[in-house]
Amino acid sequence: MIERGKMMDKEKWHYETLAVHAGSGPEEGPASLVRPVHMSASFKLPEFGPELFDALLLESDQPPHAYSRWSNPTLRSLEDKLAALEGAESALVTSTGMAAVSSAILGLLKAGDHLVAQDVCYIGSQELFGEYLAQFGISVTMVDTSSLKQVENALKDNTKMIYLETPANPILRIADIQGVAKLAKNAGARLVVDSTYATPLLQKPLALGADLGIHSLTKFINGHGDTLGGVVLGSKEIIKDLRKSMLVHLGPAASPFNAWLIARGLVTLPLRMEKHCANALALAEFLVSHPAVKRVFYPGLKSHPHHQLATGQMSGFGGILTFSLKDELSAAIKMVQRLKVLTYATSLGHPHSLVFYYPTDMYIDQAAYLSEIQKKEIRENWMDEGLVRISAGLENIKDLIDDIDQALAK
Ligand SMILES: *Cc1c(COP(=O)(O)O)cnc(C)c1O
Repeated sequence: MIERGKMMDKEKWHYETLAVHAGSGPEEGPASLVRPVHMSASFKLPEFGPELFDALLLESDQPPHAYSRWSNPTLRSLEDKLAALEGAESALVTSTGMAAVSSAILGLLKAGDHLVAQDVCYIGSQELFGEYLAQFGISVTMVDTSSLKQVENALKDNTKMIYLETPANPILRIADIQGVAKLAKNAGARLVVDSTYATPLLQKPLALGADLGIHSLTKFINGHGDTLGGVVLGSKEIIKDLRKSMLVHLGPAASPFNAWLIARGLVTLPLRMEKHCANALALAEFLVSHPAVKRVFYPGLKSHPHHQLATGQMSGFGGILTFSLKDELSAAIKMVQRLKVLTYATSLGHPHSLVFYYPTDMYIDQAAYLSEIQKKEIRENWMDEGLVRISAGLENIKDLIDDIDQALAK
């Protein structure tokens, strides 16, 4: 039904070409160059026989469409695009990034299993590990995954998964994917990497040995700040299992309309990432030399503790930077109030530059699942008393710098 001949060349194509062509091209019927949105809950089923069984039982990784909680042409088109960009065999699109995270974890772990997870990462994931997985009988040890020693020491006989995020939201710690992948392999555990900050363009967790890659599509991949989405990427086998177990039974399917918006946004990801990265680097360099600023974190700065690792593992340093101010949180609150171009808002990877501050005492000190040693390390090395995160948008860099400069002026 969906014309796939063009996909044959995808191994030779570059990002820009894949972002436009993968998962798209005319379908049967009117040869519309841009795929329509398939707003249909159900699909006419194949005749009695193997195709019907595949559609109903999801026996193959690309079964005929039967019902949109299981699969849908618009979602599959986006899945094909994402798999092509990531270099993955298969992809499962979900309604949100957290649906991708929770589907990967609940789909692959069961009661009695142990998970080694990152101590500071996206707050939704961090709280899932620290506060909620215990109620499913999954035990969790949360460590700094940028330390191979800590990861190794946390492994147990029943460790079935290592979960990390790199670069980490919000503190921009970098983990050595290849190093952790080796530890996971030796331990018989699967490695899952949330690569949202890097996008499929700047980092390839699967090629570095991870079993599954995850992205929040809400961020850079959609890139327009108008819808939520998530994806899990990996082998045909695992993705098929996750579709059968999690998508069918927990139901985190994305709306075809949202998937269509994301596929549309994704077309310009290579162009946008260049601008996000350039703006983030320029802002980082500006802030380093600003007298009100205490410390700046951006993986592309030589001063970043993991700059070396980031240089080897990533092909660009991303659109996010963080910094602390000499006058700490109160100065950050005042600065944010005065900003006119940058917007005080959560999320990242939007066309708008977004700024968000983290009160270290609320964010870290009140987390019951972190040890005193962890809290001290995070505060001293990454957050100070209040961290400001900027997601560099697509505006003119001079306007962004002028805006921050006026907001920091006494
Ligand atoms: C935002 C984010 C998520 C969650 O994605 P949603 O689409 O908001 O559910 C997961 N991981 C990272 C790194 C994120 O930044």
